[in-house]
Amino acid sequence: RAKHEGRGFYCVYDVDMSDAYVATKQLEEDLRVAIENNDLTLVYQPVVAANGKIIGVEALSRWKHPTLGMVSPPRFIAAAEQSGSIVQLGDWVIRQACNDALAWPTLTVAANVSAMQFRRPEFAQIVKSILQETGLPPQRLELEITETAVIGNIEDAIAAINDLRKLGVQFALDDFGTGYSSLAYLRRLPFDRIKIDQSFTASIESGAEAASIVHAIVSLGRGLGMKVTAEGVETPDQQLFLRAAGVHAMQGYLFGRPMPAAEIEPAPAQTTRAAS
Ligand code: C2E
Ligand code: MG
Ligand code: MG
Ligand code: MG
Repeated sequence: RAKHEGRGFYCVYDVDMSDAYVATKQLEEDLRVAIENNDLTLVYQPVVAANGKIIGVEALSRWKHPTLGMVSPPRFIAAAEQSGSIVQLGDWVIRQACNDALAWPTLTVAANVSAMQFRRPEFAQIVKSILQETGLPPQRLELEITETAVIGNIEDAIAAINDLRKLGVQFALDDFGTGYSSLAYLRRLPFDRIKIDQSFTASIESGAEAASIVHAIVSLGRGLGMKVTAEGVETPDQQLFLRAAGVHAMQGYLFGRPMPAAEIEPAPAQTTRAAS
């Protein structure tokens, strides 16, 4: 790779790499400060039953950087994981989500939990404290983890999940189908729910393969006694397909975008009217 003119002094490094490195470190630092100042917000996306009725919400973090504007969650979550501040961020998300959920007595609230956050030995205890402090019935909290959080650590993961499930907290396996998703793992893990990644929903209409994968995941879920949620539902045709396939719940722009807590309406939602 060619060196940039005038920057030859740093000839050992690739100039772009080193700029990127500095930018990444700066982002990590800005995020740390933002977490400390309580500058992040949560938005909530409706989760609906197959008939379109709202049954829950998923909490999703948002960060507006003072100069960069909105930073995408995958980007700032990665930065938080890199710097370790994901632990503070993640615990804040659970606490805030539990607090906000008090306003929606008929709904469950789901929070995403990162691998690093979940793997801490004290994780279960922290969630218990948050439930006690906020007074949210544990049955109304669902924690979403990806397989990265459990791989290589399955015994500890099972123990932590069971510890919280005894109280009634529910667990969902997020983004199912995108990783290595070993079936041997899945059989042993006490999840209440599998969330089919939105990439499968998006390709339902484009061919038989994605459709058969969806059917396979639904029957896998049934066989293991887990409910199945489809993510990224954007069209009435996708909803019809997924309902016929036996999916228990759906999420997607068809039913509602992630929105501020004040806009969540726990009353029953319309079925396919949301499309018009
Ligand atoms: P996720 O947990 O799988 O969340 C679903 C993502 O899909 C969200 O993106 C949501 O806005 C988006 N989405 C929902 N419906 C549709 C749809 O119909 N079409 C399309 N194209 N997208 C849809 P978002 O909010 O940008 O978050 C992306 C990912 O970042 C999340 O994926 C999750 O892995 C992570 N994330 C977000 N907030 C948190 C958090 O508080 N903690 C952790 N650990 N991860 C988070
Ligand atoms: Mg999620
Ligand atoms: Mg997902
Ligand atoms: Mg995702």
